[in-house]
Amino acid sequence: MTELRFVCRFQCDGVDHTFVLPRQSPLGKSVGEQYQPTGIWPIDFLCLPHGHVCRVGREAIRLEGVAALAPGLHEGVLWEIEYECARQNCGQRQTIYTRYSAVGTQADVLRDVLKTRARVLCSEGHEAKLDMARMELSLLGS
Ligand SMILES: [Zn+2]
Ligand SMILES: [Zn+2]
Ligand SMILES: [Zn+2]
Repeated sequence: MTELRFVCRFQCDGVDHTFVLPRQSPLGKSVGEQYQPTGIWPIDFLCLPHGHVCRVGREAIRLEGVAALAPGLHEGVLWEIEYECARQNCGQRQTIYTRYSAVGTQADVLRDVLKTRARVLCSEGHEAKLDMARMELSLLGS
């Protein structure tokens, strides 16, 4: 069985990636056949398999049929990672997103995020490694 859901489909290192957008989250909401994105797009998405952050624009959003198993289980769930720039006197807060298996705990997500050694940029252009003491993870709904 399939169900129609809004997804993000984009290319990362030449590979097609898809994640299902929660019906309602800080990213936007689905209203019937329309997705209403909020003003935060484009978003930064941390690709765990490739270990880097990709910029994903709202043109990646589309309505597609996805396998309807348990809610979110097949495509994974979306996590929001908020981090604070470590540069002295900067303290800019940024948000990135990542997708994880729905059975993963917060500790699992944190472990795999740190394993990537992905580098992130704050809005002032400071580049840093994600560091556990300066990030907060929260699970977005499905
Ligand atoms: Zn990737
Ligand atoms: Zn990428
Ligand atoms: Zn900064």
